[in-house]
Amino acid sequence: MTASSDLEHGWAGSRRLLRLLRDLMKAGGSSQERLDKVVDLIAQHIVAEVCSVYAMRSGETLELFATKGLKPAAVHKTKLQVNEGLVGLIAAQARPVALADAQSHANFAYRPETGEEIYHSLMGVPIMRGGRVLGVLVVQNRTQRSYGEEEVEALETVAMVLAELLSGDRLLEHAGSGQDDDNGPMPARLSGIALNQGLAIGVAVPHHRGIVISQVVSENPEADRERLDAAMGEMRSALDAMLARQDMAPEGEHREVLETYRMFADDRGWLRRMHDAVRGGLTAEASVQKVQNETRARMAAIKDPYLRARLADLDDLGNRLLHHLLGLDEKRRDDLPENMVLVAHDLGPAELLDYDQKRLRAVVLEQGAPTSHVAIVARALQIPMIGRCDGITTQIGDGENVIVDGETGQVLLRPSKSVRAGFKESIAHKERQQAAFRAVRDLPSVTRDGQEVTLLINAGLMIDLTHLEDAGAEGIGLYRTEVPFMIRDSFPGVETQADIYSRILDEAGSKPVAFRTLDVGGDKLLPYWRGGQEDNPAMGWRAVRIGLDRPALLRQQLRALLRAAAGRNLIVKFPMISEVAEFEAAKALLQREIDREKALGDRLPTDIKVGAMLEVPALALQLPQLLPRCDFLSLGSNDLMQFLFAADRGNPRLARRYDGLSPAMLTLVRDVARQCDAHGVPLTVCGEMAGQPLEALALLACGVRRLSMAPGFVGPVKTMVRSLDLNELTVNINRLLTLPDHSIREQLRSYALEQDIPI
Ligand code: PEP
Ligand code: MG
Repeated sequence: MTASSDLEHGWAGSRRLLRLLRDLMKAGGSSQERLDKVVDLIAQHIVAEVCSVYAMRSGETLELFATKGLKPAAVHKTKLQVNEGLVGLIAAQARPVALADAQSHANFAYRPETGEEIYHSLMGVPIMRGGRVLGVLVVQNRTQRSYGEEEVEALETVAMVLAELLSGDRLLEHAGSGQDDDNGPMPARLSGIALNQGLAIGVAVPHHRGIVISQVVSENPEADRERLDAAMGEMRSALDAMLARQDMAPEGEHREVLETYRMFADDRGWLRRMHDAVRGGLTAEASVQKVQNETRARMAAIKDPYLRARLADLDDLGNRLLHHLLGLDEKRRDDLPENMVLVAHDLGPAELLDYDQKRLRAVVLEQGAPTSHVAIVARALQIPMIGRCDGITTQIGDGENVIVDGETGQVLLRPSKSVRAGFKESIAHKERQQAAFRAVRDLPSVTRDGQEVTLLINAGLMIDLTHLEDAGAEGIGLYRTEVPFMIRDSFPGVETQADIYSRILDEAGSKPVAFRTLDVGGDKLLPYWRGGQEDNPAMGWRAVRIGLDRPALLRQQLRALLRAAAGRNLIVKFPMISEVAEFEAAKALLQREIDREKALGDRLPTDIKVGAMLEVPALALQLPQLLPRCDFLSLGSNDLMQFLFAADRGNPRLARRYDGLSPAMLTLVRDVARQCDAHGVPLTVCGEMAGQPLEALALLACGVRRLSMAPGFVGPVKTMVRSLDLNELTVNINRLLTLPDHSIREQLRSYALEQDIPI
């Protein structure tokens, strides 16, 4: 390789090429003509024999749109699927590829019509816009040329300019083969997962609808750098102001999430990469987008939830920065509809807060997970949210009607008038019900025949505690300690944990809180904890099994709990206990910690109650040995069901296969309740069953008197309890449990309807 390319001359060379490209784009001629000139120009400047542009068709096929060097007859003929050939690989991974010997790569796909067999080296980069791959830009050389990092970087910069041409000029609509019609204004239904419950009707507002970058190539890099720095400064001040806002609760995980996010605004690596792009000849806006493209490509390839959340934060900051650069912030609020449903690929926690909460009815995301930061903030703000909704950003247009059903995870696009009317009625009905539930909030939870039923809530976030009062619950039956672990960057130490638990106890006041020790593994993963790959994680190394194998971890948590509850009552339970010996071993660790605290002269809790979670059927066969050793028992119906029926609780195919209201499950519950009664050991059911009025009715009939559930279910369950005659039902259920049926749901439902029991 003797000729030296402009790209090898670093920033100055790349800037010269960008200017030439810009002039070319401004010049007249059809899009195709301009594209032909563009490939010519690039080939010339980087001394490549070949330069080609492939454009994405219908989201799946890459079509050769222009080439300098390959056979002209191949243009609009050569097509590759995403992931096919090296071009397809670049598109699939949204990452550059640079190979001195391309033909020996496993993905090399030879297309005879192109005549490319004589070219050995290849460098290609994705052409991206708003996180989407629009095409691929490729250069090839005859010799085995090793392309340097700076050359790849410069080619990526050139691709930013091409993205303008591919997206802005409607090139795809004009040239070559026809494109699939989009699906028009027909009603449609998409599914996702409910990240926060609630129903909403509104009009779709795409996030970032204001972001349009009109200039990619910088006229004056120095001025662009200054604009970038100024926008950075503005953004940081705006974030500080947001954190200081009055309506933001001062305590809770959402604040911690936002503070971590704020730290990212000072990330040097991020800023440096944007500065580099400005030096390479892009405008400040295009530089932000270039770095965003790279971040999004990395995000797509990363499974680790912690890293993904961090990259999503950076993406979010990139959008905020663009708003400052484009001066969009002021406009954002006024022209938004009163009943907006925000639609986005992904959203950062702070971006959600940017929108006027009074107008925001719901949020639908292509990404998102129950533990993602934005979901945590949505729960704090009580905004219905659906995540993992594939296709939402492409299938709904700005201003179109949309219904969000945060109960089922469904989104209805362009619903008909009658469907809208039906949902309006459902929402109104829900509101009436809520009012009725509020009315029973302060009334006792007692059946018609005078049996008291204790209703408790399940919690995990600080924000859940606020529902303790408004739900009218008597305490927290299950505090899932893994939740605060899930949103942190690393294991919280004893002090941090003690602080969290003590704030929970403060917030709960005189009401009891049952802390469950760390229940990780299975479907509950900590971003910084690598338990190793397991074939059957639900039945694997999880919960108390980890605690017993890594006693330091469990002891630290127990120490933190003892300290947090010093001078008050402590209730602790251990998850996934499978045999009495495990419970004894866990209790022994607690005793060691109690002794340690005593020896240190530290104040201890005034009372300590220790219980086991019954989630593994084997333990149910050891109750005579277990019950004399524990102060209470918690039945985790979610896991108990999964192990009783050998049916993965997270597998949607099995979701309705077995019923909690089966004679098998209920007979087990009745048996457990009888034995607990005989030993005077309080029993609480704290899985999802406890919060469903019909299931709760069955549990009461089986002898359970304590139920712990998500806060929103306390009202409906209490209403059911207050209209129930348990004497009569208990006789009935004993007969039903002898049936060979799959489930006794229908019989119980008819009974409830006959007796006018709201379920
Ligand atoms: C259960 O298994 O029923 C339970 C309450 O625990 P989790 O849902 O947290 O596994
Ligand atoms: Mg469980």
